[in-house]
Amino acid sequence: MQSNWAGNLTFSAAEVHRPATVAELRSLVAKSRRAKALGSAHSFSDIADTDGTLIALSALPPEIDIDTAARTVRVAAGVRYAELAAHLHARGFALPNMASLPHISVGGSVATGTHGSGDANGGLATAVSAVDLVTADGGIHTISRAADRDTFDGSVVALGALGIATHLTLDLRPAYDIRQRVLTGLELTDAAENFDAITSAAYSVSLFTDWRGPRFTQVWLKQLADAPDADFPWAKPAETKMHPVPGVDPVHCTEQFDVPGPWHERLPHFRPGFTPSNGEELQTEYLVPRGHAVAALTAVDAVRDTVAPVLQICEVRTVAADRLWLSPAYGRDTVALHFTWVKDTAAVLPVLAVLEAALAPYEPRPHWGKLFTTAPADVRARYPRMPDFLALASATDPARTFSNGFLDRMLHA
Ligand SMILES: Cc1cc2nc3c(=O)[nH]c(=O)nc-3n(C[C@H](O)[C@H](O)[C@H](O)COP(=O)(O)OP(=O)(O)OC[C@H]3O[C@@H](n4cnc5c(N)ncnc54)[C@H](O)[C@@H]3O)c2cc1C
Repeated sequence: MQSNWAGNLTFSAAEVHRPATVAELRSLVAKSRRAKALGSAHSFSDIADTDGTLIALSALPPEIDIDTAARTVRVAAGVRYAELAAHLHARGFALPNMASLPHISVGGSVATGTHGSGDANGGLATAVSAVDLVTADGGIHTISRAADRDTFDGSVVALGALGIATHLTLDLRPAYDIRQRVLTGLELTDAAENFDAITSAAYSVSLFTDWRGPRFTQVWLKQLADAPDADFPWAKPAETKMHPVPGVDPVHCTEQFDVPGPWHERLPHFRPGFTPSNGEELQTEYLVPRGHAVAALTAVDAVRDTVAPVLQICEVRTVAADRLWLSPAYGRDTVALHFTWVKDTAAVLPVLAVLEAALAPYEPRPHWGKLFTTAPADVRARYPRMPDFLALASATDPARTFSNGFLDRMLHA
């Protein structure tokens, strides 16, 4: 029996298969009635669960092939961002952005629309230019941005519903340095009045609050090392190194105090080799159109007496609009409201219902890999290209080999 990272879900499959070659993976899929890929198991929802064949990709060769001329990398889907980023940086290349932790697999992160922060930064899947996909018959197909204009945008953030990605090709940029600074004590009224100035104050900006008051406890500014500082009169520089979750040792966190360093050692909040976040937790995230940011924050503030008792920390980030059909940032510049909860599902689920009711006017799209209780029909209605995705899924996987309880519910119920 294997559990997800958080330990809130025990996978239903009797065993976890770990193919060592793509040929082995293809034959395993071809003889499975139902199959599901498992990345690094960092999702909180049952999106990776299956009572069929659960296939971990971690034993496949961890290939990372850079095409220097094309400025791309073809990476095995089970590779984690920590290993990929260090490899790229050592060769003078970089990704545009990273999530809060580098511990997660590329394939799983892309499949669920995982993102970092930054007004001009798309989610991690926006770097993908091609996906090598094993389909239900064991065949392998490359779907690329260049060759498959009609279906590519539906095949990247695909929730694992189309097949198992063995490799992804990602766009690269030259390596760059970032410096990170933490500020404390930003009033909600100041954040509301100056939201655009605040989220554009650095390359990547995160606001943290425990919702025990109408204020943000911390502001994390990740700035390009050679870019000038923006004025930030609304909060004070932190005096010591900080962890976003109160009471947790900041040794887990990436370097602060404006010390410049490689992009991959500053853009994530948490260091590889250390537990990310708290470790004992559940997570939820709702992504709303940027234009609704202040209204959505005001709506959460109105229910903070319900939220705060089960909350460890809330993080507010921005994500640039993209064209990927099931990306939570599809078609809209986005503000992401993330919640790290105490690890108590029974106490947290009723609070999610309260939050979802408060945020409903702002068309929140729940993060596919985190916990939510939004009705599947409401989730589907928030994705304009959902009908196209359902048609693509039924053409690519007519027998629903890659479906599971989560997808049966979210796509078909
Ligand atoms: C501490 C912590 C911090 C987090 N921070 C962030 C954050 O900053 N931003 C954010 O957006 N999210 C964040 N997340 C959520 C996380 O990024 C997602 O849950 C992501 O899916 C994790 O990738 P994974 O490899 O663990 O995926 P898994 O949980 O293993 O799988 C997720 C889904 O992807 C599918 N899948 C996996 N690999 C493949 C493949 N090769 N081909 C096809 N389908 C595949 C699985 O079948 C499943 O449906 C965080 C999670 C944790 C635990």
